[in-house]
Amino acid sequence: MASARRILIVGGGIAGVHAALGARAADPEAEIRVFSEEDCLPYDRTALSKDVLTAGIAPSEQLLFPQVHYEEQRVQLHCRARIVAVDPAQKRITTQTGATHGYDALILATGTRPRQLPGVDAQDVFYLRTHTDAIALQPRLKQARRLIVIGAGLIGLEVAAAARALGVEVDVLEAGDAILSRACDVHTATVIGGFHQREGVKIHTGARIVGIGRGAADSLRVQLASGERLEADLIVAGVGVVPNLALAEQAGIAVDDGILVDEFGRTSVADVYAAGDAAKLPLPFLAQPVRLETWRHAQDHGHFVGRNAAGEHAPFDAVPTFWSDQFGHRIQGAGLLDRSQTPILRAYEDGSHTSFLLDDAGRVRAAVGIDRPQDINGARRLIAAQLPIDSGLLADPGMPVPRIVKQLKSA
Ligand SMILES: Cc1cc2nc3c(=O)[nH]c(=O)nc-3n(C[C@H](O)[C@H](O)[C@H](O)COP(=O)(O)OP(=O)(O)OC[C@H]3O[C@@H](n4cnc5c(N)ncnc54)[C@H](O)[C@@H]3O)c2cc1C
Repeated sequence: MASARRILIVGGGIAGVHAALGARAADPEAEIRVFSEEDCLPYDRTALSKDVLTAGIAPSEQLLFPQVHYEEQRVQLHCRARIVAVDPAQKRITTQTGATHGYDALILATGTRPRQLPGVDAQDVFYLRTHTDAIALQPRLKQARRLIVIGAGLIGLEVAAAARALGVEVDVLEAGDAILSRACDVHTATVIGGFHQREGVKIHTGARIVGIGRGAADSLRVQLASGERLEADLIVAGVGVVPNLALAEQAGIAVDDGILVDEFGRTSVADVYAAGDAAKLPLPFLAQPVRLETWRHAQDHGHFVGRNAAGEHAPFDAVPTFWSDQFGHRIQGAGLLDRSQTPILRAYEDGSHTSFLLDDAGRVRAAVGIDRPQDINGARRLIAAQLPIDSGLLADPGMPVPRIVKQLKSA
């Protein structure tokens, strides 16, 4: 009798965990192991900038699954197990303690880490990626009177909103001309900027930082190129992430701002796959391979890649989505936004809206909405269809998006 397939997964984030569950669904017999360098069971990272900061909920209370679920699924979790080497010739990996494990299929789900501000003393600035970061930040935020957030992307603005909820004064410094330029169209970003202003957050765009140091009474001081100086007792930076590529590079796997994979999740090296935030993949509705940094994508992609590593052969084609929660509003998006796309606004009487972003051929490429989950669900299908859509229908709040999808299908 053939021995069970050995599937090893590096990374215990959402992609790694769902790769394990996908692999189990495809192969009931496989031996499946997940190696996580973190010191706790896999948890919901998205809560770190939300409930974990405002409600004081411990990250350990935000687990993806209880321990028993891994046992039931016969997934062996190795926590505090950093993988330091991959040997594709011998098909084995090595942990930091020197233990080796052989594989038939290996999945790299190593995720990303925060981009660091150059030339800034790490003691002066908090970054937010892991539960350890959140545990360190939580009490400091509660005690703080004044916070400076560097970077007006989704995570920076979520931290700003959480801090306001705790009564902290907040300045957000954004080097670009506009907030949320990667995630949102101009209209949605303006609406979100309005939420922040109404709640007392001061947003400074075009704010180029030239120095960070100590001010009076041990406060922190940020010097801007404009000559302006801001003081705070806490600084949090959310200036993007970089993929964890060291293992892939060491193993001779092709990388380019992400571990390059094909539509099946395969890397350039036989029997090695990559999934989630670390992977750069082709999608049928995009001209170029892309590396995505969103929860739902990491979950979907992890699951698919896990199945493929366990012997299936299905191409990945899910339209990516994201969400963010700020001041009681749910911001959601689908597809890949590019500010050269043409926005079509669907505005509702209650103040909510969805922006559809169209390419030159009139096809929906992305959508971003506030408090309109059904529109975003429908938009995923419109994006996948890759067909021109009447912009009058998209703009009409009386025309449910699922009905547009139905019409498209029957056309
Ligand atoms: C604070 C915060 C809030 C967010 N909020 C949202 C949100 O509201 N909506 C949304 O769509 N997205 C959100 N995201 C993004 C989302 O969390 C990520 O897209 C998702 O976590 C990516 O999952 P992943 O498994 O690919 O990578 P990761 O979550 O980065 O997991 C990778 C894991 O691999 C481990 N690892 C790396 N190298 C090794 C090694 N050599 N050995 C062992 N382990 C290793 C890492 O320590 C990590 O635990 C948020 C992210 C953060 C940080």
